[in-house]
Amino acid sequence: MDSIKALEQAVATCTDCSLCETRTYSVPGEGPEKSDILFIGEGPGFHEDQQGRPFVGPSGKLLGDLFSLIGLARSDVYIANIVKCRPPNNRDPLPEEIKACRKYLDQQIRLLDPKVIVTLGRFSLMRFLPGETISKVHGKSRLWGHRNIFPMYHPAAALHQGNLRQVLEEDMWKLRELLQSMQAEVTQEDVSEVLTEPEQLKML
Ligand code: URA
Ligand code: SF4
Repeated sequence: MDSIKALEQAVATCTDCSLCETRTYSVPGEGPEKSDILFIGEGPGFHEDQQGRPFVGPSGKLLGDLFSLIGLARSDVYIANIVKCRPPNNRDPLPEEIKACRKYLDQQIRLLDPKVIVTLGRFSLMRFLPGETISKVHGKSRLWGHRNIFPMYHPAAALHQGNLRQVLEEDMWKLRELLQSMQAEVTQEDVSEVLTEPEQLKML
């Protein structure tokens, strides 16, 4: 699994947990092979299972609206899930299923090398910040190694609880601020490299 393509193929035929028995298609994830931003949901729902693609049902529609709000294109980001096959009747994924599937997400993070990981919902949050509650940490970025974790509510939660849509929108704007501040830092680094060059030359 040394490329995203190889990983996607491995997931397509994986039988490492019992979710393989009830799935139509597994859903490896979707996006560019290198991406600064990785969104991680929980697991495929009905529509995702039918199409083999992440976030293509009602939650995906809402996620797309949230992307448009801040001028992000779906094709700019990688979208993955904690488990790659649909739990029957959209039940919560079981600990043994999450464990069996973990290797794929770990490898996706290694290969994509994202600067920001946006967790959608509590299962995704738990993977990075176990013991935290989403109501406390949503919308605030946190360093995880050299990457930023940015927790958000799951879009499906807003489909059931209308007031969460506004929270998701507010958090999306905060994500935009984070991305802009990171962009500014990179530009700053470029500038300081140029500025310190004559100093370094003098020292030689
Ligand atoms: N919900 C998720 O968590 N992931 C999907 O891909 C779709 C809905
Ligand atoms: Fe394999 Fe993950 Fe699907 Fe289980 S959920 S069969 S571990 S790809």
